[in-house]
Amino acid sequence: MTERAYNFSAGPAVLPEPVLAEVQRDLLALPGPRASVMEISHRSATFKEIIGAAEANLRKLLSISDDYSVLFLQGGSRLQFSMIPMNLLSDERPSADYVLTGAWGKHAMKEARKHGKMRVVWDGSDTNYNRLPPAGSYEVNNDAAYFYYASNETIHGVQFPGEPESGRVPLVCDASSDFLYRPLPIDRYGLIYACAQKNIGPAGVTIVVVRNDLLERCDENLPGYLNYKTHADAGSLLNTAPTFAIYVVRLITDWLLNDIGGLDKMYALNQAKSKLLYDVVDSSDGFYVGHAETDARSLMNVVFRLPSEELTKSFVAQADERNLTALGGHRSVGGIRASIYNAMPLAGVEALRDFMVEFLLAES
Ligand SMILES: *Cc1c(COP(=O)(O)O)cnc(C)c1O
Repeated sequence: MTERAYNFSAGPAVLPEPVLAEVQRDLLALPGPRASVMEISHRSATFKEIIGAAEANLRKLLSISDDYSVLFLQGGSRLQFSMIPMNLLSDERPSADYVLTGAWGKHAMKEARKHGKMRVVWDGSDTNYNRLPPAGSYEVNNDAAYFYYASNETIHGVQFPGEPESGRVPLVCDASSDFLYRPLPIDRYGLIYACAQKNIGPAGVTIVVVRNDLLERCDENLPGYLNYKTHADAGSLLNTAPTFAIYVVRLITDWLLNDIGGLDKMYALNQAKSKLLYDVVDSSDGFYVGHAETDARSLMNVVFRLPSEELTKSFVAQADERNLTALGGHRSVGGIRASIYNAMPLAGVEALRDFMVEFLLAES
């Protein structure tokens, strides 16, 4: 069998090894149905237990109250860029506010503009998205249907350490690349969503947590699949759900609860992991230069540059030889991006840290 590398891919990304081992063990036949999870009805008792456990785990990890629905959808985060305005805008509230701290927020805003008037209340593009809005730098439009932001900008490595201020306007968050990285005050959100393939599972399922009163805004003339309320009423089984992906989300949330010990522990581990890398950047005398300003640094995607394109290529190639893979940055930022999601073990980050120090000593 091929040896597993430490995989720093931005997404689809590393999954916990114990979870993959469990998937492998039960792949041919689950106890009970004696068939693969991919071969059973989404309406069978076995699958209903799986989706029920996935939801219960999420409710437990994030203390989600009955005031919120938890939905398992398809179409990735891209479909949410459209479903959010389609469902939450109305004749009384035809516009929404967007804060842009990176590429994903911008994509979402552009898509939303097909459905109404979107107001960009803050945009960090003039410095290629390396910072967060300073306190008091934007005003929330009180008539806005919602206030939208991305908690972690995956490409630029910019992350909000907490929730931005949105007054009484419902906060809507794209948490695609940092969902479950820390405990969240869910009551602060109107809606928070995440595709699975970065921090919570394989591609194919997108989790939406939405406050129930917002479901009353969903226009019943929307196509059924595009209406949040239809999914909430159907318990996410309107049509054939992405059963395999939901099964893995269930196992990963089991892992977070039982192996990690909850999101406080996960958060402490994520802080420690990212500090290992940023400490090397900060003590490298300018050899490594972080993209994000210090207070905007992501705990999930550590983005930094080297002195030249040549050194960057050499860094990626030499790292790959040591089984540290997928470290090339996104073309819009360049440099290196080390994605160190929940499932990246501490040992993987330590190995990258050691390599960064060695490379620095050899090349600077
Ligand atoms: C990856 C990503 C997306 C896009 O996800 P898809 O599932 O490919 O549509 C959106 N937002 C953020 C923050 C992401 O990291």
